[in-house]
Amino acid sequence: MTTLDFTHDPARRSWVDSANDPATDFPIQNLPYGRFRRAGSGEPWRIGVAIGDRVLDLAAARRAGGWDTEVDALLDPLAAGDLNRFMALGAPARRRLRAALSQALGESEGRREALAAALVAQTEVELTVPCTIGDYTDFYTGIHHATAVGKLFRPDNPLLPNYRWVPIGYHGRASSIVASGHPVRRPNGQTKAPDAETPSFGPSRRLDYELELGFLIGTGNGLGEPIPMARAEDHLFGVTLFNDWSARDIQPWEYQPLGPFLAKNFASTISPWVVTMEALAPFRAPFVRPEGDPEPLPYLDAPGNRAAGALDIQLEAWLQTAAMRAAGSPGVRLSAGNARDAAYWTAAQLVAHHASGGCNLQPGDLLGSGTLSGREPSQAGSLLELSDGGKRPIALPGGETRTFLADGDTLTLRAHCEREGARRIGFGSCAGTIVPAPLLP
Ligand code: CA
Repeated sequence: MTTLDFTHDPARRSWVDSANDPATDFPIQNLPYGRFRRAGSGEPWRIGVAIGDRVLDLAAARRAGGWDTEVDALLDPLAAGDLNRFMALGAPARRRLRAALSQALGESEGRREALAAALVAQTEVELTVPCTIGDYTDFYTGIHHATAVGKLFRPDNPLLPNYRWVPIGYHGRASSIVASGHPVRRPNGQTKAPDAETPSFGPSRRLDYELELGFLIGTGNGLGEPIPMARAEDHLFGVTLFNDWSARDIQPWEYQPLGPFLAKNFASTISPWVVTMEALAPFRAPFVRPEGDPEPLPYLDAPGNRAAGALDIQLEAWLQTAAMRAAGSPGVRLSAGNARDAAYWTAAQLVAHHASGGCNLQPGDLLGSGTLSGREPSQAGSLLELSDGGKRPIALPGGETRTFLADGDTLTLRAHCEREGARRIGFGSCAGTIVPAPLLP
């Protein structure tokens, strides 16, 4: 696990004033990577680092000069707009550049004169998916979610016997992953009501969100070369928010025997800023199994994972309906929980398990955590749980109700890390607004 250094010092401040605001998601201790361009410009995407309410354009920062040879070489792929090539370099490169950027942006020793012109206001940029995502796998690590969903289908036996032994997952669809802010079109699909003779085709009426974390792979592994658990964390680049939009009425009819398909692949939304594993170093927590649960098999076990494999990340889901938007209301918080309490498996275990049979992971591959619901109903990460399978409508301020998402609804995920002795960091937001389904052919 990454050790703490001067870049994590909570007293550290930046010459970018907005980065010193206690409420910012992007203080100098965070420095997440994203791809941006000036809004509406159609320019090629550029790599930047979020700092306060600005973006440090890394191409402009490199041109400003003054970097030592090693750091200048690390900036090369980033200045070229290729985050994947930088991700492949692994943790030592990331740590080196983090230290250099922290120094350059630091209040006392920073390079304000040289770099001020490389800053762009976040209000003036558009952001896209942070890297090229070649492959996407979605896991199911939220044990309370798995239990709650299992209960809807199998009241007496909610959790299948494999759950506590094997990290459950399936291969998802990378091409339909969009960045926060991109509209999400309600899918048409084949559904069959339990009392119907035959299925029908039309707009999903049970459109839902799933509050997840996205783990992005940095260094890959060769085909046929498993990743040992003790080194699994070295292959992680960073973490994003991830909304795995789900059509709950398409899923039950199509998922047997091969698993989710069109109920999940019409869109997934990712937050545009990748919070690196280094930025998360102060917010690690021990991996513990509840009393009486089996310990992981040896290939999913390592001392470092036991000591600090889990992530202490506070998670929130917010809903703003079209009526709320028209009334100028920011919306209502649907749930709040913590990834540490929700996830049964750690990110390192997902990496080790994914590669254990020889599957090659590549820089930019995305592993979804699965819906991270806490133990309490108020911590649920989907409407399926919050509305008890659609049976109990949720009352919203203003007299509206919801079981599932309506056209015009904006669903926003947020997350931050906070603890005594560390600077609070945040993930930005992961938002999508539902637009009506396409007309039937
Ligand atoms: Ca999911």
